[in-house]
Amino acid sequence: MNNFDFEKFFDRSLDMLCISDFNGFFKHINPSFERVLGWSIEDLTTHPFLDFVHPDDVAQTVKEMEKLSTGNVTLSFQNRWRCANGSFRHLSWTAFPEKENNVIYAIARDISDLLAMTEINERFRLAIEASPVAMLMVHHDGTIKLTNQEADRLFGYPGGALIDQPIELLVPANVHHKHQKERAHYNHAPEVRSMGVGRHLQGVRRDGSEFEVEIGLTPVEFSDGVHVICSVIDLTFQKQTEARIILLSKNLQTANAELLQIASTDQLTGINNRRVFDEQLDFQVRLMKRMNKPLSLLMIDIDHFKQYNDQFGHPAGDEILKTVADLLTRKVRSNDVVARYGGEEFAIILPDTDQKNAMQLSRRIQASVHEKQWEKMEVTVSLGAATLMFPLESSQNETQSALLLSEADQALYHSKIKGRDQTSHFSEIKK
Ligand code: GH3
Ligand code: MG
Ligand code: MG
Repeated sequence: MNNFDFEKFFDRSLDMLCISDFNGFFKHINPSFERVLGWSIEDLTTHPFLDFVHPDDVAQTVKEMEKLSTGNVTLSFQNRWRCANGSFRHLSWTAFPEKENNVIYAIARDISDLLAMTEINERFRLAIEASPVAMLMVHHDGTIKLTNQEADRLFGYPGGALIDQPIELLVPANVHHKHQKERAHYNHAPEVRSMGVGRHLQGVRRDGSEFEVEIGLTPVEFSDGVHVICSVIDLTFQKQTEARIILLSKNLQTANAELLQIASTDQLTGINNRRVFDEQLDFQVRLMKRMNKPLSLLMIDIDHFKQYNDQFGHPAGDEILKTVADLLTRKVRSNDVVARYGGEEFAIILPDTDQKNAMQLSRRIQASVHEKQWEKMEVTVSLGAATLMFPLESSQNETQSALLLSEADQALYHSKIKGRDQTSHFSEIKK
């Protein structure tokens, strides 16, 4: 043993090695003291070493010294030492006394960086835990290394149960392979992938149920390799809300369509009401004018309807109105517009129809009213027709609508005075 020079270890050790007396002075210290604390060996050996200990740690250090002076023990403790630059380093000590020589042997290690790292790690863990978003930290080999409470809750696992499990546990089985491939690809070139477009995936809960999630990825480098921090947002509520909005807007569309139907339909007969008739007449005047096509209008009035009502009652009269409306609707083409003009009066707008064709239809209607087997008494109608031939001199659409209406009305009046159950065209009555 004596052949070896242990001083060489003493001088070269990265740990701080020292021998002190029981009066609080160093007798020997190795160069690591200088390296860690920045004081010279002379500074450190000519002052009581308690001068260098953090004031808050002096009392504890004195206690440890007393233990060493009274017992034959090896002690471990920590304290902070002031450096030459004014900062403090955290030292972890192992010390034992040698009574016969009145000395203490002690070894110290600077654990400041380790403590700082532990603190950073703890802060990091706390930050992840405090996040209201579900977060998981996944090692590049695909093992889950950290989850927060929200992630455990979201996927339905008890706290800690996901640790060291493969991340694929939270991904539907049919995409495991794809997910592994994507993960390998990501590990090859990790980058921050924020939430948003294209990050919608399915997640799997512990009970096997699946739900839509949005994922954000952040790679972080640790001493044991790259980890990926995944933030997971549950889209279930958003999807439900979207589905609800779609349903509501469909309901609204249906309600609007129903409203429009109500607003444009005559309640008794189910055909167009006066409002639609007025709109359609203006529209067809404009359209036929543009297309340079004739437009005809038929006005139809039930004869002696007052009498009918008086004789058989209003409800029976209503039935006649419905039957006539139905009959008119059956006689016309799809482009023609049948409307209840008011009371027992109906109107039919006939686009692209000249006088001859209008009169033909008019007579067919009259004939079909005749042919009808009326229950209580025979019903007849009087009809008046008018036709606009474009181009017309007047350019006012409204005037043309009013003109056509007035002419058809005059023709109808003509049918009435000629004895009812008649068909007249305005152009014929003028002569
Ligand atoms: P004309 O041959 O000259 O047309 O004689 P008319 O009796 O048909 O004409 P008038 O204008 O004198 O009477 C129309 C009648 O139509 C009076 C009214 O009670 C009836 N009437 C109007 N609307 C309705 C309705 O919705 N239901 C029923 N049942 N009758 C109606
Ligand atoms: Mg009438
Ligand atoms: Mg009338």
